[in-house]
Amino acid sequence: MSNLSPENTPENTPDAPENNAIENVVIIGSGPAGFTAAIYAARANLKPMIFEGYQDGGLPGGQLMTTTEVENFPGFPEGITGPELMDRMKAQAVRWGSELYMEDVVAVDLSQRPFAVRSSDCGNRSYDRTIKTHSIIIATGATAKRLGLPSEHIYWSRGISACAICDGATPIFKGEELVVVGAGDSAAEEAVYLTKYGSHVHMLVRRGEMRASKAMQDRVLSNPKVTVHWHTEPVDVVGENNRMTGVQVKNTQTNVETIIPAKGLFYAVGHKPNTGLFQGQLALDEVGYIVTQHDSVATSVAGVFACGDVQDHEYRQAITAAGTGCMAALLAERWLSAEKLIQEFHQVPEVEKAPMVGSTTLTDRPPEISTDRPQSTPEERYNPASTHHQGGYALRKLFHDSDRLIMVKYSSPSCGPCHTLKTILSKVVEEFDGKMHYIEIDIEDDPDIAKNAGVTGTPTIQFFKHKEMVTELKGVKPKSQYRQLIESNL
Ligand code: NAP
Repeated sequence: MSNLSPENTPENTPDAPENNAIENVVIIGSGPAGFTAAIYAARANLKPMIFEGYQDGGLPGGQLMTTTEVENFPGFPEGITGPELMDRMKAQAVRWGSELYMEDVVAVDLSQRPFAVRSSDCGNRSYDRTIKTHSIIIATGATAKRLGLPSEHIYWSRGISACAICDGATPIFKGEELVVVGAGDSAAEEAVYLTKYGSHVHMLVRRGEMRASKAMQDRVLSNPKVTVHWHTEPVDVVGENNRMTGVQVKNTQTNVETIIPAKGLFYAVGHKPNTGLFQGQLALDEVGYIVTQHDSVATSVAGVFACGDVQDHEYRQAITAAGTGCMAALLAERWLSAEKLIQEFHQVPEVEKAPMVGSTTLTDRPPEISTDRPQSTPEERYNPASTHHQGGYALRKLFHDSDRLIMVKYSSPSCGPCHTLKTILSKVVEEFDGKMHYIEIDIEDDPDIAKNAGVTGTPTIQFFKHKEMVTELKGVKPKSQYRQLIESNL
């Protein structure tokens, strides 16, 4: 990572949780706010440490990881997908020497100076890292809300989803009637996105107007595959044999209840700020957002700054999050300087510039799929000796012919969590090269395979040994969990 020449090199490395050095600044969170703060802090020679998060408070990369096209971020006239935008921000933060840790912060102590920040390794609570730092930038964002419908627990992942972009392409929704609840930009975006897969989309709007931007409203209202149900909210989900068959809805003006037949219900009902770590330590408003000083991102504790959605209940845009991330880094630098706490890590000229596009650190790139010659068909591409494969042909062949452990990842192209998992798995798989097979299935290219495998959301991982499924994992899990499962099934 480092194009840095530290004057005082902290002993801390990802393999050495004990660290006696005092950091200039720790950034908690890895959305547009966190990475923009990191870019500015790194360019100010502060060598920021960023806790990207793992499972607490949503995905590393933040809410843009579950967004399709971002059409309003300046500089991308053709639009850019949320995950790609986050990749670019992360690569820029890494390029300037930020140190990244894919760990959840589990405790913060603001009562002592330097502050203490404790993290755990990807949900592995037996692993702890405690960092001392003079300043903290909080960019923990906000988490999607659930509705808590009476039958939510029965139909969760069997029809109810909090992420249309992750789950919309799965076979259970293909050609079916689908329902989106919410009237903000997320709901509008998801309703339009789901028309690619469902036969028709019903959007439940509890008032007589939408909160979404005019451009998004126009897109919804002009789409013949979307019906907006005004003054309507969901009451429950109905179903048979653990599969949902409809949404029970209520007209908020008349209280009359009806059922909309549907196989999917997608929540897009807003977010709550991720501030649990700071309760009792920082001033929060009545909803839980961090209170910052007027025209500033300074919090109630000197040396602690908050940026992005964790302190913004009004604008909540990627660009405003990035703007406040910049403010937080500038204020942190000024504060460290005024307090005479700053410790500079000078940049040295880069000998060879790393490419900026694509995967974050270019060492994160997944191993190449083995190809010796220009090939066109799956049969030609198939090499049973390889570890890494793609597509249904390789899966069918290896399932029948190979004695190795087979790990299958089912993903869809626009799914942000799949993107996060790809980086995690490619690192794990490298450790077991030649001992297992790793097969990536794009469920849009191979819908029948996904259907036969019973995939109800992406990413899904299935492990097979001797033609039997050993286990299945849904969503993104700690790296250590995949490693342990592979080791115990080799
Ligand atoms: P949001 O703007 O807070 O909208 C949440 C929606 O859920 C509201 O329409 C709300 O209804 C509805 N809702 C809440 N609780 C409900 C319930 N119990 N039953 C039925 N409906 C309920 O959240 P968001 O859409 O996730 O957007 C968050 C921020 O991200 C916004 O600032 C948005 O502009 C931004 N965003 C931008 C883009 C983009 O520009 N590409 C895409 C996505 C999001 P009421 O309106 O009645 O309160």
